[in-house]
Order: sequence, then structure tokens, then C-alpha cells
Amino acid sequence: MTDTTFSSLALTPELLENIQSLEYSKMTPIQAQSIPAILDGQDVLAQAKTGSGKTAAFAIGLLQQLDARKYITQALVLCPTRELADQVSKEIRRLARAIPNTKILTLCGGKPFGPQLASLEHHPHIAVGTPGRILKHLLKGSLKLSNARMLVLDEADRMLDMGFQDDMMTIIDMMPQQRQTLLFSATYPDEIKDISNTIQIDPVDIRVEESHDEVKIKQIFYEIEQGQREQSLVALLHHYRPQSTVVFCNRKHQCQELADELWQRGFHALALHGDLEQKQRDQVLVQFSNKSSSILIATDVAARGLDIKDLEAVVNYELSPDPEVHVHRIGRTGRAGKSGLALSLFMASESPKINAIEKYQNISARIDHLATLKAREHFKLIPTMVTLSINGGRRNKIRAGDLLGALTANKIIAGKQIGKIDIFETITYVAVERSVAKQALKILTEGKIKAKRFKARKLI
Ligand code: AMP
Repeated sequence: MTDTTFSSLALTPELLENIQSLEYSKMTPIQAQSIPAILDGQDVLAQAKTGSGKTAAFAIGLLQQLDARKYITQALVLCPTRELADQVSKEIRRLARAIPNTKILTLCGGKPFGPQLASLEHHPHIAVGTPGRILKHLLKGSLKLSNARMLVLDEADRMLDMGFQDDMMTIIDMMPQQRQTLLFSATYPDEIKDISNTIQIDPVDIRVEESHDEVKIKQIFYEIEQGQREQSLVALLHHYRPQSTVVFCNRKHQCQELADELWQRGFHALALHGDLEQKQRDQVLVQFSNKSSSILIATDVAARGLDIKDLEAVVNYELSPDPEVHVHRIGRTGRAGKSGLALSLFMASESPKINAIEKYQNISARIDHLATLKAREHFKLIPTMVTLSINGGRRNKIRAGDLLGALTANKIIAGKQIGKIDIFETITYVAVERSVAKQALKILTEGKIKAKRFKARKLI
């Protein structure tokens, strides 16, 4: 049996101590299998999904091999979405706490170019970003990778789906050939194998058994008739009453339509699809992740890179034609030792899709009848929290502590009634328990934060 303690790895004492302080007591399977090879300087091709601990796997590998005294860019991490890039940077920074003066820079599209140029005047040790923006900086000469020795492609399959292949390959061509390449992907289509063959040298191939993961997910399929989808979804929500659900649709126009219909039926549902502006997308994700919305309706494309914890249920409003995508969808519930619920609607004509899933997952599908679901006439699924937005953010030097202090100063609201605080450049979102939302809004509109008055409003 492999040793899964971090202390079995050849890491610096500082890095080890920091890992321990993060309470990562033992390595996850992907970490146990990939970190030794990464530390050994080998290329790695790993099948790993969000939640497996893959970020820490490559982050520990990069940090251990980094020379923080040299102010040159030594590693590049490419991610499909801004959200994932932000999460990856956060995780690397957390792990890098023990290494003084490590600079990690996130470079993504949808953000102004100017400030990124200014940040690049001092070269980061590690650059994390999305392919389009990274390429733009490389072509402009603001980002230099001539000394980079490590490349990570995170969620490589998603990058291909999003049409980043050309940008990705151009970037790789601009990097030194003498380098270590780590390729992480949730699925293994032929294109990934081809890319690996082109850009990696004799990679260590790692696939982690997922079977013990899957038993934590209770998966049930429901057969429906034509025109019954919406009412069947409502029946599922009434019966299972999940506090947080992601509902997957195959087409983006369906997401908004379904969200509107669920609103009319008294559910707090938000749609996440490619037509949203970045600000709207941020707002939807904030509301869902801080528990002030209980249902997120998304397409696979829009849900890429989402790292939402404590998801009680995933509903497939429509089955994906691809069993790998199906497994990726349902893998978003049942994380970190908690059990999850994966519910799928299908019509008899879609039976081949169920067969493909059974074959792919090596399971025998449990198919239940809708009639077994208990209807609750007057049931309402009300989110526990409410989001308040404030028209000030990082630019105004607002910090979470300022808000917490302002909201709890008069002791009407307790600290534990305040949830997640998300601070963006010019806007801040704070979640508060529904029962104190009115008082909280009054405090924020009538009082001051950092001696300044801000406008605040409640999001619906
Ligand atoms: P990821 O798959 O990279 O998205 O990581 C999922 C979550 O697991 C992140 O919140 C990590 O901080 C956390 N994590 C990573 N490695 C470990 C570990 N060895 N023990 C406990 N938690 C971990």
C-alpha cells in the first residue's frame, strides 16, 4: 500500500508544515499517485475532476520545484474559465504561504488589460490564466515564458470544448521544449490523447478509481412522458427538498425559460448560461454559493469550472448524449464524504442513453416511477439566506471585517447570522440570514463603512 502521508514526500519543511496547517491530513488518491512523479520531474497525464484535490497535487509539485529567489516566470497554469483560474490561484497562494515573496498572478479575459500590464512589470513566479488572455500577453511581450520549466493544463478537455485548442498550442509552441508538462482532464477523448502525444514526453498515466466516490451518490432515473419535464422537476424538488440543486439543461435558452417558470411556481431559481455578462454571472454564482438561491439552472458549458461545495442534488432535466458528461455532472454532488443525490429525467426514446451510462459507469440503473414521489401542496423551498449588494469593493478598500463590524456593532445581528462575503473590484455582496435582512439593509444604507456612506440593496 502506498504511503499517503504528506511527510513521506520529499518536500521542504516549510511547505510540509504549511500543508499540515491547512489540515490536509493525508493525500487524496490523485495526490498520492501524481505528486511523487511530479517531484521526480516527469510529465503526468492525469484523469481528475474538480473535488479530487488535483489543484493541490500540481500546486505542491510546482511550489517545491520553484526557485522563489529568481524573479522570472517559472510555471504557467492554463485553465478554461476565469472562475477556475481564480480558484487555482487561491489554492496555490494558500499552499505558498510558507514560501516568502512568491508571486502568483492571475491573467484572464473579461478583465481590463492595463492593470495586468502593470502587474506584469514585476514578473510573477507562476502565471495562471485562460488561454486567450495569456496568448495576448505573450504576443505583446508583457509575459515572458522563455525560462518557464513547468506547464499545467487544467481541465484540458474543457479547454478543447471551449475552442481554446489553437490558442493553447500556440502558447505551448512559445514555451521552452525542455519543460515538465502536467495535463489534467476529467475525461479522456481522443483529442486529449493526441495532444498528450504531441506535447508530453513519456507521461506517467494516472487514473484514479472512482468507484468508492460513486457509492456516495444516490442515482435515480425517472421516466417521463412528452411535455412532463417541468412538472416532474417540480415533483422532484417537492419530494426531496434539496437546499442546493444544480439543474442541467442541454440548451442555453432552456435555462432562462425554466428559471422563469420555477419562479412563477415559487422557487428561487437562477439561470447560468453563456449569454450572461460577466457581472451577471458573478452575481448568479454569488447568490447560489452563499445559499440565497437554492436552484441553479445551467448548461454544461456555463457550469465549467464551478466549484460549489455542499451541493445536495444534481438534476438532469435532460440527459446528456455523452455518458462522460453525465458522470461529470453528477460528480458535482456527494463531495468530500457527503452523500449526494443525482436525479435524471428521461423519455422512453432516450433509453439508449441510459444504457450507455450503465455501461460507462458499470452500474445497473435504478429507475423509479414519478408516482412514488410525495407531492406537498403548499411546500415552498425558501433559501435560508438573502444577498445584499453594496456599491463599493476592493477599490474602496472594503474588507470583510469592515462589513462584519458594521453589521454586528449594535448587537441586533449576531456574527453567525452573516454568511459569505464576496468582495469584487467595485461591488460587494454579503449574505445574511433572511430573518435579519431588513435590519442589515437598514444598517448598511444608513450607516457608514470606512467612514463612507454606500448604497446597498437587496438582491431578489
Ligand atoms: P480540487 O479538486 O483541486 O478542486 O480540490 C478540492 C478541495 O479539496 C479544495 O477545497 C482543496 O483545498 C481540498 N483539498 C485538497 N487536497 C486535500 C487534502 N489532501 N486533504 C483535504 N482537503 C484537500
